[in-house]
Amino acid sequence: MVIEYFCNRLFVIVKLIIRFVFETIGINSKSFEHEFTSTSSSTAHHADTEGNQYRHGLVIFLVTLVFIIAFGYASFFWRKLTAFCLTNKIKKPSATNRPCHEFSHEEKERIVVVGAGVLGSCIATVLARDDRKVTLIERDLKEPDRIIGELLQPGGCQVLRNLGLDECLVSCEEAQSTTGYIIHDWKTGASVHIPYPKASDNQCKEGKAFRHGKFIMSLREAARKESNIEIIEGTVQALIEDNGVVTGVTYRPKKCDDSQEIRAPLVIIADGGFSKFRKHLHSEQVHVSSHFVGCIMKNCPQVKANHAELVLSNPNPILIYRISDEETRVLVDIRCQTLPKNIKEYLLEETLPYLPEHLAAPFEDGVLNERVRSMPCKFLPPSTARKDGVLMLGDAFNMRHPLTGGGMSVAFNDIYIWRELFKEISDLTNYQQVEEAYSRFQNRRKMTHSFVVNILAQALYELFSANDELCLL
Ligand SMILES: Cc1cc2nc3c(=O)[nH]c(=O)nc-3n(C[C@H](O)[C@H](O)[C@H](O)COP(=O)(O)OP(=O)(O)OC[C@H]3O[C@@H](n4cnc5c(N)ncnc54)[C@H](O)[C@@H]3O)c2cc1C
Repeated sequence: MVIEYFCNRLFVIVKLIIRFVFETIGINSKSFEHEFTSTSSSTAHHADTEGNQYRHGLVIFLVTLVFIIAFGYASFFWRKLTAFCLTNKIKKPSATNRPCHEFSHEEKERIVVVGAGVLGSCIATVLARDDRKVTLIERDLKEPDRIIGELLQPGGCQVLRNLGLDECLVSCEEAQSTTGYIIHDWKTGASVHIPYPKASDNQCKEGKAFRHGKFIMSLREAARKESNIEIIEGTVQALIEDNGVVTGVTYRPKKCDDSQEIRAPLVIIADGGFSKFRKHLHSEQVHVSSHFVGCIMKNCPQVKANHAELVLSNPNPILIYRISDEETRVLVDIRCQTLPKNIKEYLLEETLPYLPEHLAAPFEDGVLNERVRSMPCKFLPPSTARKDGVLMLGDAFNMRHPLTGGGMSVAFNDIYIWRELFKEISDLTNYQQVEEAYSRFQNRRKMTHSFVVNILAQALYELFSANDELCLL
C-alpha cells in the first residue's frame, strides 16, 4: 500500500512536470516563429537569438526543477522504504509470539536494564521504588569522564524533581546554577541576553551544569540505595531470543572470562549513543551532522554570572558553560564527517580568532594544556519498530543535535511517562499489554516533550551554524 502510494504520487508529479516542460517549449517556439517571420531579417535574427536564449534558460530551469523534485521524492521514498522494511523485519505480532522459555517466579518479576548511564540509572531507581525487581548491568562502574550530558535544562531539572530524584542534583558536587544564555555574534560584536523563562514565583527558572561523571555517580548512588536493585558490573554481549521474543541477556562480568546469562520478561536497553543493540531493534538510521570538540578552560571569567554562552562564530557555533567552581567547558561544533588531523592547530587557527576577548586567553590555555576530546553529534528519529520482551530508550532510541542540551531532559521525560505506564502493567509476560503501553508512550512523548525538543534542536543548530547571509535572513 505505502509503496504503491508513493510510486503513484511520484509518477503523476514527474509526468505533469515533463508535460509542462514540453508544452511550454512547444508554445514558445510556435509563438516565436509566428511573431518574427514578417519582420526584417536583422530584427528576426536578433529576436531569434533572444528567443533561443530564453528557451534554453527555461529548459535548464525546468529540467533542474524536475531533478530536484524527483531527487527529493526518491530520497524521501527510500527512507520510508528502508524504515518500512526494517520495521517489518523487527516487529512480530505479539499474539503469535510466545517464548518457549518458562520463567521462574523470580525471573518473572525481573526487569533487566542494560547501561547505568543517564537513563539506565534513573529508570532503575524509579522502577525499584515502584516495587519492581531490577537488575542493572553496567560495563564500567567507575566515574565516567566524558564530554557529554553536562548541562541539564530547567525542564529536565523539574522532571527529575517530579521523579523524586532531585537529591542527585543536590549531591552533585560543585554543580553550577544556570539561568540563561548570552549569545555573541562574532561579526557585529553584539551580545544578546536570553534568560530562562520565569517560574510561577517570578524567579528565573534554573538549569544545572556539572561534571558529567559526578552527576552519573550521584544517579548510580541513588540506584545503589534501593534494595530492589541488583547492580552488576559487566558487559552485555547479546540478547537471548526465544521464538522471536527477548527473554534475557548474556553478559561478561568484569574481570571474568566466562559469559553468564540472566533471564527476564523485559529488557530495557539504555546503552547510549553508540548502542550495540540498535541495529537489531531500530527502524531508523543514525545521521552524524557534525562533531563537538571540547576541552576544559580553567578559571574562565563569565560575562554574566550563571549564564552559558553561545558564540556564533565563523564557521562554528561554540558553546561555553561553567561545570564547577574552576572549570568551564568549551565545545566547538565542527561540521564535518572526519575531523581535521591536527585538531589543536585547527582550534587555534580557526576558532580562537573569533572568540570574544574574555574567552580568548582561557581558550588558548585550555587547547594547549588540557585534553582535547571529540564526540559525534548525531540525529536519530525514534524507532517505530520494536520486539517483544525489549524496550530501547535514551540515546539508543532517539538522538538530536546536542547544541541545545536537550538529551537528558528527553530521557527523564520518557522515564516519567514509562513510570505511569508501568503502573498499568501487572504481568510483564503479557506482551500485548506492554505493546499497548508502548503505543501510548510513543503518542504521549510526541504530544509533549520529544517532538518539540527534537525539532527545535535540529532547527536551532541549522540556524546557529548558518554562515551565509541568505540563511540568516
Ligand atoms: C557531545 C555531546 C554533548 C551533550 N551535551 C548534553 C547536555 O549538555 N545536556 C543534555 O541534556 N544532553 C546532552 N547530550 C546528550 C546526553 O548526553 C544524552 O542524551 C544522554 O547521556 C543519554 O543517556 P543514555 O543513558 O541513553 O546514554 P549514556 O548516558 O551514554 O549511558 C549509556 C551507558 O551504557 C553503558 N553501556 C554501553 N554498552 C554497554 C554494554 N554492552 N553493557 C553494559 N553497559 C553498557 C555505558 O557504559 C554507559 O554508562 C550531549 C550529547 C553529546 C553527544
